[in-house]
Amino acid sequence: MTIEEIGEWLKIAGEPPYRAEQIFTWLHSGVEKFDEMSNLPKKLRENLCNNFHIADVKIKKRLESTIDNTVKYLYELYDGEFIESVLMNYHHGYSVCISTQVGCRMGCKFCASGLEGFFRNLTASEMLAQVKMAEKDNGIRVSNVVMMGMGEPLDNYDNSVRFLRLVSHEKGMNIGLRHISLSTSGVVPGIYKLMNESLPITLSISLHAPNNEVRSKIMPVNRKWNIEELLKACRDYIDKTGRRISFEYAVIDGVNDTDENAKELASKLKGMLCHLNLIPANPVAENNFKSPDKAGIQNFCNSMIKYGINTTVRRTLGADINASCGQLRRSETLR
Ligand code: SAH
Ligand code: SF4
Repeated sequence: MTIEEIGEWLKIAGEPPYRAEQIFTWLHSGVEKFDEMSNLPKKLRENLCNNFHIADVKIKKRLESTIDNTVKYLYELYDGEFIESVLMNYHHGYSVCISTQVGCRMGCKFCASGLEGFFRNLTASEMLAQVKMAEKDNGIRVSNVVMMGMGEPLDNYDNSVRFLRLVSHEKGMNIGLRHISLSTSGVVPGIYKLMNESLPITLSISLHAPNNEVRSKIMPVNRKWNIEELLKACRDYIDKTGRRISFEYAVIDGVNDTDENAKELASKLKGMLCHLNLIPANPVAENNFKSPDKAGIQNFCNSMIKYGINTTVRRTLGADINASCGQLRRSETLR
């Protein structure tokens, strides 16, 4: 709830309005019970306890990389569902990758998150709880958030935007919007809505293909909103917000990694205020996609740079806890 929403409830409960900010700050400091809110009168704490619950996530599994201290979590939610989160340690601080849904309805062929379909949306509080748990469990402060875990954030639009406003609130965790990325598979109406929210986040687009033929094969969402519509929305987003877009491209051996593919991709992105991030495709047991070798990825990267696109290869973290989005949850639910 926002401070204003808490305030509305307090008004009806006959409590003074200044309590709203106190309650909000307590919630975002990571308390687990209303009884811990020590500057509230006992009667109010009881009243809160009778009317609300504090969303949390329980650690079901915790895998820590011995190479780079990346921590991968499998969390259990109040209804027994599972989601994943990852804590990464970069030189500029700690970054948390959060899930926005249980499962995903987009069904991308290379992704483990959507293999079993969609179960439910996460609430904004369940997204906040993932950030808070990473802080509490490791005794650290998180400075960056990426909405790149399980689920499609723009298919859970209202909760995702609510999360963005809450996590960046100065009375809460106060994580700057400029330190937050939201990744979408290309839900075009959501991109149009988002550009009018005045949220200076980084928008990442999972492009993964240079044309409709390849993209529709690996990302069913492309049959609804094709590359032309998606890139038009991206250009409009850049015009409206003045912010650079980040394109994600999982390089898959024999699917989208030829020089011809690079050339076609460059022709589509040319002139846009953007950055291209190449991700070595992470193999998933249920499909036979794999990444080209290191030299193959570097080749593709060099081609893109040669064709004039600002391109980097994403660093791989947590290689020894080998688990890309959705794989940990899947190993749990299949048992
Ligand atoms: N649903 C959103 C955000 C979550 S997925 C989206 O699709 O953008 C986060 C990123 O991981 C996306 O770019 C997605 O395409 C990528 N991804 C998923 N499975 C992958 C795999 N097996 N190998 C490499 N990247 C993968
Ligand atoms: Fe969903 Fe993103 Fe995975 Fe596609 S890549 S199935 S949109 S989580």
